[in-house]
Amino acid sequence: MPETKCFVKNYMEDVVWSFLPNVLAKYPEACDCPICKHDVVAIALNQLPPRYVAREQGEIYTKLNTLEIQYRADVYAALTKAIMMVSENPRHDA
Ligand SMILES: [Zn+2]
Repeated sequence: MPETKCFVKNYMEDVVWSFLPNVLAKYPEACDCPICKHDVVAIALNQLPPRYVAREQGEIYTKLNTLEIQYRADVYAALTKAIMMVSENPRHDA
């Protein structure tokens, strides 16, 4: 059996990152530095159900769109809440 590089991936991470710019665009007052963006994504992901899938390296994404549509409202809500939380209490000086 040939050695295949498999790994486990949380699809929800990709979905949250792909939605982030759209949601941030609605909050021009929110900081979009890397620290705040990663805090926002971490907070949002903690509110969302993980969706782990086994993958092989190089495998092409095919299910992402379906998942995006299925969880769109939840992801938007989680990101909005996370942006509010981080804006109110950023980890760096304003
Ligand atoms: Zn920031």
